[in-house]
Amino acid sequence: MKAKSVILPADQMPRQWYNILADIKLNPPLGPDGKPLQPEALAPVFPMNLIEQEVSSQRWIDIPEPVLDVLSIWRPGVLTRADRFEKALGTPARIYFKYEGASPPGSHKPNTAIPQAYYNKVFGIENITTETGAGQWGSALAFACSQFGLNCKVFMVRISFDQKPYRKAMMEAWGGQCIASPSTETRAGQAALDKDPDTPGSLGIAISEAVEAAVGDTSGKTRYSLGSVLNHVMLHQTIIGLEAQKQLAMINEYPDIIIGCAGGGSNFAGLAFPFIQDKINGKAIEIYPVEPKACPTLTRSPFVYDHGDTARYTPLLPMHSLGHAFVPAPIHAGGLRYHGMAPTVSQLAHEGIITPQSVSQVDAYKAGVLWARTEGVIPAPETNNALAQVVIEAQKAKEEGKEKVIVFSFSGHGLLDLTGYEKFLSGKLSDYELSDDDMAKSTAVFADFPKPQDLNSR
Ligand SMILES: *Cc1c(COP(=O)(O)O)cnc(C)c1O
Repeated sequence: MKAKSVILPADQMPRQWYNILADIKLNPPLGPDGKPLQPEALAPVFPMNLIEQEVSSQRWIDIPEPVLDVLSIWRPGVLTRADRFEKALGTPARIYFKYEGASPPGSHKPNTAIPQAYYNKVFGIENITTETGAGQWGSALAFACSQFGLNCKVFMVRISFDQKPYRKAMMEAWGGQCIASPSTETRAGQAALDKDPDTPGSLGIAISEAVEAAVGDTSGKTRYSLGSVLNHVMLHQTIIGLEAQKQLAMINEYPDIIIGCAGGGSNFAGLAFPFIQDKINGKAIEIYPVEPKACPTLTRSPFVYDHGDTARYTPLLPMHSLGHAFVPAPIHAGGLRYHGMAPTVSQLAHEGIITPQSVSQVDAYKAGVLWARTEGVIPAPETNNALAQVVIEAQKAKEEGKEKVIVFSFSGHGLLDLTGYEKFLSGKLSDYELSDDDMAKSTAVFADFPKPQDLNSR
């Protein structure tokens, strides 16, 4: 019998992360005065050891032993061939995926939650605040904090808090605290509630609340943690792609196409960045970040300087952005409802090294249900967006009669996010496409901000 999964022996687990900042340039983050931000200015928000990582351009960075030790609970992860899915699609393409649903919280997010908790602990921090959209990040950080004896407070976007009560229970099981955002605990939350008491909330608002709660603790023992977007988060996730490279080499395969869904960009970056090094060095490889049509950050919004949060506490970051006050349609892929995109992923899209795609919510669930009925695992709503693009590429390969190799990031399972499946299966799931009018309104907020410079890595 042919093996379905490629298993990487434990002693071959990657021991360094790949830092893409050794191979591409970014515009600097800007402070409130419009000048490049000095890293020390972030010290009230993040521990200094993580800030150093954020600005580092060293290509390889050692993974600390205690981090490897916790990651070994579920890593190395398998690389699996989706042969049943291939057969259902009748495609000559060979489809492989990195399954990140095997982590305790069920997604790729602990790949960065674990090192972030570790670096905070080493720096002497006792409490971590954060926001969560779908609840995946909040649960990942609560799990990570439990491993290193830290307190964890999570501001959860209201609509998800209501739709997904079990997420809160999960965070509490790991010893974390979870409250609905906007809340009355912060000025940013109160302001959002004053404006609209029935607001579904947004990641932008929740980030403002979590940053305020961290910076507002005068004991100096609290910091904030972000689950996506930032350079050090992308760095920690590269363990996915580094494992995949070794596993593909073991079976003499190399990808023609790489696919990952993109909310803030981290699971996509985790798989894609190690291969982007190859692409910059001349390999022909198509790399697709995929987002929902309801929140088309990379595919429709401009590359600008914008804030990462609604209350504008964060520095100006060079990124594709729908505007920091954007409140997306209530699609079920909560992890893909963010207005911005990682500066690294944005820069790569701007330079044409990666090619963003967008899919509709209904197509995403169609692909997800086909997956569940062939490969078995019920994918996270976010992962369904990647799957919809995999279907498109597999069908293209069929039309062209080409044996393409597709590798994608299976960012998580959907066992705690079944509401969208319920709606899809009863024919009640709607599609949302952002109108040009709403887009023009939401992107008006950064009209007067400085513009990023045209940098080029190739
Ligand atoms: C959070 C999340 C995402 C989106 O975040 P990225 O930083 O873009 O990876 C995608 N899939 C799952 C399962 C998630 O939990």
